[in-house]
Amino acid sequence: MLTPPVEACMPELPELEFCSRSLRRWSLGRRVVGVEVRDPRSVRAARTDRPSAGRADGEAALRAVVLGAEPGDILRHGKRLLWQFGDMALLLHLGMTGRWTRKAAPHTKVSLQLNDGGALHFTDARLLGGVVPTTREAGLQMLAEGLGPDALRDPLPPLPGRRAVKVALMDQAVVAGLGNLHAAEALWRAAIDPRLPAEEITGERHARLAQGVSEQLRLTLAQLEEEDEIVYVEDRGAPNPFPLYQRGGEPCPRCGAPITKFTQAGRTTWWCPGCQT
Ligand SMILES: [Zn+2]
Repeated sequence: MLTPPVEACMPELPELEFCSRSLRRWSLGRRVVGVEVRDPRSVRAARTDRPSAGRADGEAALRAVVLGAEPGDILRHGKRLLWQFGDMALLLHLGMTGRWTRKAAPHTKVSLQLNDGGALHFTDARLLGGVVPTTREAGLQMLAEGLGPDALRDPLPPLPGRRAVKVALMDQAVVAGLGNLHAAEALWRAAIDPRLPAEEITGERHARLAQGVSEQLRLTLAQLEEEDEIVYVEDRGAPNPFPLYQRGGEPCPRCGAPITKFTQAGRTTWWCPGCQT
């Protein structure tokens, strides 16, 4: 049976950065006074996407981290967050459907009650995200383990290999934080054909791509900052601020040619054949 190509891959770096800023803002000057784990599969012993790795003592492990110390700063590398609580920490990842909100919602897996009467909820329909209670030291180790430089903070590294540039951009070991949607949009901003071999992106082209990635991430983050709670583009009724995503047949905002899509490594790539050369 053929699996249809995956359209997007939310959340990506801007959504994670927005999540870290939201949690920081919502927890500043407050303390966690209660913990509720509604689904033990979301609290894991190690960084993994597998719900089967949920730990039976997850609630106790979570309490040991968040009740002991004031919520501290949140570090981000690519699509991983580390929320520090004194010598302890929570490694957070959102998978494909995870989000932290202030309002409980269907699929709430973990809730943290705050001393001001508010609460922070982790919701995750597909259970690919999770919370890893750990020490600060081990968390710092896990935060960037196996990942390339951060796509927002660090310079874009050289992209090695004959594989297509879009596929290389999505390889977290090469550059951390880009997924299907933002990689395609960044290539459009840079006017680069997503099928070009990665190793041919050098010199002026590489500089253009670095600029495109930076612009794409910063613009998206600025749009998210206008919201109070996170909105993913796949959410029902959510606005689509992206020039290419799901705009097949519409004219390219830059050259007017019809936007189209094709499949690369099982993922839908939106592109403009008119100006991405
Ligand atoms: Zn175009």
